Amino acid sequence: MSTTQVPYFVFRDYPAGINQQVEEALLGALRAQQYILGEAVEQFEGEFAKYVQAGMTIGVGNGYDALVVALKAAGIGAGDEVIVPANTFIATVNAVVWVGAIPVLAEPDRHTCNLTAAVAATHITPRTKAIIPVHLYGQACEMTGFLELAEQHHLVLIEDFAQAQGASYKGRPVGSFGRVSATSFYPTKNLGALGDGGAVVTSDPELAAYARMYRNYGQQQKYHNQIIGVNSRLDTLQAAVLRTKLHHLDALNSERQRLAQVYLTALQGIGDLVLPVTAPGCTHVYHIFNICTRQRDALQLYLSAQGIQTAIHYPVPVHLQEAYTWLGYSKGSFPVAEELAATSLSLPLFPGMTEAEQEAVITSIHTFFERHD
Ligand SMILES: *Cc1c(COP(=O)(O)O)cnc(C)c1O
Repeated sequence: MSTTQVPYFVFRDYPAGINQQVEEALLGALRAQQYILGEAVEQFEGEFAKYVQAGMTIGVGNGYDALVVALKAAGIGAGDEVIVPANTFIATVNAVVWVGAIPVLAEPDRHTCNLTAAVAATHITPRTKAIIPVHLYGQACEMTGFLELAEQHHLVLIEDFAQAQGASYKGRPVGSFGRVSATSFYPTKNLGALGDGGAVVTSDPELAAYARMYRNYGQQQKYHNQIIGVNSRLDTLQAAVLRTKLHHLDALNSERQRLAQVYLTALQGIGDLVLPVTAPGCTHVYHIFNICTRQRDALQLYLSAQGIQTAIHYPVPVHLQEAYTWLGYSKGSFPVAEELAATSLSLPLFPGMTEAEQEAVITSIHTFFERHD
């Protein structure tokens, strides 16, 4: 029995002093008494756009709404087909359905767990209007192929970079490749708020104007409505927090990468363990450190008994979710996504994780496989 309890995720004061800075930012925003939109939201939008190297950011209520607003802005609607990876978080697919479009699922690459342009290409029909590559677990998708495919077939490329803020492909930040892209500031994301938050990113002024209207009841000017929008504004207090945390995003990601490197070195060649693989030209910011083993359930139980918490992303692939039986897929439709769902385990990894905590995880995994070989 290991004596060190290891949470799957916990907020620590990393880099040192960040917690106080966040508290001060929050207090400042509170005292400014601007609670909806206003300066803090505009400042954050400008800074985030610059960080992502995209023209404009439109802050919205959460990552799901960001996807809906991006799809709406891109003109995706009834009857349109949108290609999405079969192993994504459900929000990506729900957003497609919400705008009236049809999600067309596609197999991820077995090694990177990301969708590739080559696989997406096999699903293109005359009704295909968009592709949503998801930078899963924090690894950038290989974007060159997607850009070419989108151009050839006149498709809208929409990135879901909820798990990958700060990742890049060939030196260019994710979020800047899509005609329009969506991200989430859910608290545990690499750039997390203290509640819900999300953003749409685009360099197309027309799409940006639409998104800006749509998130705020469809009005460009108060009480003058051009379109039927919704209420999904980035909360002003959250924007103040996000501004502060954005300054530290690169340092937070570097710490995640350092921790990942420790795992990658210490867990090599154990049993049937498959470690995360990063494709050439891509960076990985390890939102999730995902390993695969056929003994996943036994390993998870064993680690839990040692006081080590883990998670599974995701236990049921989209096409086997009860909510999506109507899509008509069945078991066997996406063997890679199904295998990932059956074998994936996410290890604890968070900025501020101690050496002792990581050592406890590594030692326990070694012990488990020594006993189960
Ligand atoms: C978290 C996440 C979302 C949704 O974000 P919320 O802010 O929780 O709505 C969408 N897509 C992916 C890939 C995510 O990980």
